[in-house]
Amino acid sequence: MRDLVRTLLPIRWAEVPKPAYDVVIIGGGGHGLATAYYLATRHGITNVAVLEADYIASGNTGRNTTIIRANYGIPQAVRFYQHSLEMYAALEDETGANLLHETRGILWCAHTEMALRTERARCALNQALGVETVMIGPTEVKRLVPQIDLAGGGRYPILGASHHLGGATARHDRVAWAFASGASRRGVDLLQHTPVMALQLDGDGSRVVGVETPAGPIAAGVVLSATGGRVTRLAAQAGVRLPIRTHPLHAFVTNDHAQGLGPIVASTELMCYASQTERGQMLIGAEFDAQPSYSRQSSFDALRTYAWKMSLMLPFLRDLRILRSWAGICDISIDYSPIMGFTPVDGFLVTTGWGTWGFKAIPAGGEGMAELIATGRPPTLIEPFALDRFRADHVLADQGSSGTR
Ligand SMILES: Cc1cc2nc3c(=O)[nH]c(=O)nc-3n(C[C@H](O)[C@H](O)[C@H](O)COP(=O)(O)OP(=O)(O)OC[C@H]3O[C@@H](n4cnc5c(N)ncnc54)[C@H](O)[C@@H]3O)c2cc1C
Repeated sequence: MRDLVRTLLPIRWAEVPKPAYDVVIIGGGGHGLATAYYLATRHGITNVAVLEADYIASGNTGRNTTIIRANYGIPQAVRFYQHSLEMYAALEDETGANLLHETRGILWCAHTEMALRTERARCALNQALGVETVMIGPTEVKRLVPQIDLAGGGRYPILGASHHLGGATARHDRVAWAFASGASRRGVDLLQHTPVMALQLDGDGSRVVGVETPAGPIAAGVVLSATGGRVTRLAAQAGVRLPIRTHPLHAFVTNDHAQGLGPIVASTELMCYASQTERGQMLIGAEFDAQPSYSRQSSFDALRTYAWKMSLMLPFLRDLRILRSWAGICDISIDYSPIMGFTPVDGFLVTTGWGTWGFKAIPAGGEGMAELIATGRPPTLIEPFALDRFRADHVLADQGSSGTR
């Protein structure tokens, strides 16, 4: 029996902001809160404010499908996400919160020879970097997921899968709450319903020196944008143009179903996935909308497509009812990798490009950004993800690993 009492860690809310902070973090999602937490816990920097336009985790952090994995397709990403996966596994002990963390494994099913080849390459790379991802055939797929239709509805036969054994889930809002609690108890000011309306620049516009809020101006030594899908317009105020577009992503849950789906099941080609929540609901997601938009309106088209695709693989889903659907807006970078670090404008940093895949990165992203802010030097794990990689022609193209599946 899990210790549910441990989930209710207190948060100290700040009523009004101070006139100045060493660090102002814009955005109280997972990345903003984790950065604040690690600034306080790892570096003793607590003169920090997290300014959240709405309530904490109201953005994608509270809307995602909670999948944590490290089965990426380029070495820089595999190392970074594996570190995050390991941090997640230790996060309940570190924060004292019950995060409903569960390692359950993920199957990425392949329906064509080409997809099998891609998954074999993924397994080889993952194993070379110490990540447990192994190729399995249809018989093993069926053993792990007895509910699966290996014929894929007669259209998408399952020829094999890469099995990422470390794949896990954790309850998203509890993760945000744990970081918020840990940061605020150490002196970080958390301000909800405090949108940053503008960035303050010094005389010649070469440095960001603070932010404008409805509660008045706040001076800052460093300003970090952790604003999810809203980053491009904020950065533009400092004259920073980011290679990011904002796209909606949808998800839905069904009514409760008897527990029984073991690993998370995904298709690399249909680009959809399903997992079962602790309550028994089937949680289903797919790829982001092709059309950029800031709309968080759930769409019937997405619902219909996701449901059709997923029920080809797991036909029992057809007997369930859709309970709830929702959408978030995702900051998709042109190379499908995150962007962490300095911008050309002094005092203005970003953690962005988390797209549809950034929940799993929250601990490692927060840890890395905190170290960068504290020391002025990017730690090795996040260094490849700097914004200047685009100028230097060092893009980290990894679209094949980027979905939430
Ligand atoms: C449906 C869906 C499913 C997903 N599934 C997964 C998954 O299974 N696994 C995975 O790893 N990732 C997944 N993701 C992606 C993941 O949720 C995000 O990448 C991650 O939560 C990003 O965290 P963040 O802190 O950068 O942004 P957010 O959580 O979006 O937080 C940004 C915050 O900034 C605030 N903000 C914005 N502008 C301002 C402003 N001007 N002033 C003050 N505050 C501001 C917003 O209100 C928001 O709270 C999914 C996303 C969606 C939408």
